[in-house]
Amino acid sequence: MTLRVVVVYPDLLGTYGDGGNGVVVVQRAQWRGIDATLLEAPSGEPLPAGDCYCLGGGEDGPQLRAAELLREDGALARAAIDGIPILAVCAGYQIVGRTFPSADGRALPGLGLLDVATTKGTGRRAVGEILAEPLDDGLPTLTGFENHGGLTTLGTDASPLATVVAGVGNGDGSEGAVAGRIVGTYLHGPVLARNPALADRLLTWASGETLTSLEDTEELALRAERISAVRGTVRRSGRTGRSAW
Ligand code: GLN
Repeated sequence: MTLRVVVVYPDLLGTYGDGGNGVVVVQRAQWRGIDATLLEAPSGEPLPAGDCYCLGGGEDGPQLRAAELLREDGALARAAIDGIPILAVCAGYQIVGRTFPSADGRALPGLGLLDVATTKGTGRRAVGEILAEPLDDGLPTLTGFENHGGLTTLGTDASPLATVVAGVGNGDGSEGAVAGRIVGTYLHGPVLARNPALADRLLTWASGETLTSLEDTEELALRAERISAVRGTVRRSGRTGRSAW
């Protein structure tokens, strides 16, 4: 059995390098001797069957197109019902929710796989490094960067992924959302390169295997550098949770 990791519509949702999340899941599987393959699924074709789906960020127009195509296609909704892990970043996060804003602020229907609703923020666009502490204490601090105008409110069927330490996230002090095996987040980076523990969480769900530990020296060095740079900025400026920067 080859583990199929699908990067959804990189031609529409590839603006922020989030396709790297699929690369990370496949590489971390292969490092452990788990047979895995990366499927880059273009928007013009039916979404292939997969064991893990990754959606990335994108601009408002391509984001709307991706939502329409995914609804017509139906495979991602079926995967969600089947408990296949889905990582959805930024525009992808907004798309898998109930509603997301058009460029002029109208509420557009999302796929409704995650009980969140996104509206257009009225303040500055959230752009910059973000640090957040996961609610799941099996995961360490999340590091990434964000670049979004939308703000997201969680419904009762979704739990926050993390609490914002620096940056904006959902806009209410929380960051991202989780329900079952669907994880939504505003973190780019790609988020799984910066947060290998989150990658391993998705890989565990996708493979059903107990994972051996890896020697993550370079990943840990990257994390340490980014986390201390952001904490240093917070200390110097006194900025916390909800401010855009
Ligand atoms: N267009 C969305 C927003 O601005 C998503 C942006 C992104 O994916 N980085 O909120």
